[in-house]
Amino acid sequence: MKTNALAVIGLVLVLAGCGGGGTEARRATNEAQTAAPAATPTSGAATPAAAMETKVMSEAEWKAKLDPMQYHVLREKGTERAFTGKYWNTKEPGIYKCAGCGTPLFKSDAKFDSGCGWPSFFEPIGGTKDPRIIEVEDRSYGMIRVEVICRACGGHLGHVFPDAPDQPTGLRYCINSASIEHVPAAEAKQIEAAEAVRKAAESRPAR
Ligand SMILES: [Zn+2]
Repeated sequence: MKTNALAVIGLVLVLAGCGGGGTEARRATNEAQTAAPAATPTSGAATPAAAMETKVMSEAEWKAKLDPMQYHVLREKGTERAFTGKYWNTKEPGIYKCAGCGTPLFKSDAKFDSGCGWPSFFEPIGGTKDPRIIEVEDRSYGMIRVEVICRACGGHLGHVFPDAPDQPTGLRYCINSASIEHVPAAEAKQIEAAEAVRKAAESRPAR
């Protein structure tokens, strides 16, 4: 029970750091069960994902598509060693998309130098309640952390920590370089325009 209480406290802290994103985060945690079978649901009210379909690929297909490190991180929840990934220290403008499925996930504007050796962002591209991201409790390695997963493909991205008080959200999305791909600013503009169109379509009232 003690560990359970700690988990709840940890989750509450993280949710508090999300700027009122509690309901969304809890819902996402629930929905993450298919992506992370070991996940512990925190509420019973699962809601179907918005208009985002999950890309279903066999492990063999993933192995063929990804390089070994990408496969290890995205599909096996691995972690690259600190200061070894290709983006831990990059500052080029643009966006970062999921290396598994191409979903735009983070903006270079939200990237900051946390000194931890992994690319760090204070929020996903759509803010801390971005439906493209699933947050789920991770109790591996004797720690209680919040794992960050790409909703579209179920790929492991990294973890989010409420330990960036100098950042606008107070959060540090600690992401593996292997999980993301940088898109230069010019190309990113086209992707963002397409995203805006998609968002507008989604925000229309459901029939
Ligand atoms: Zn993805």
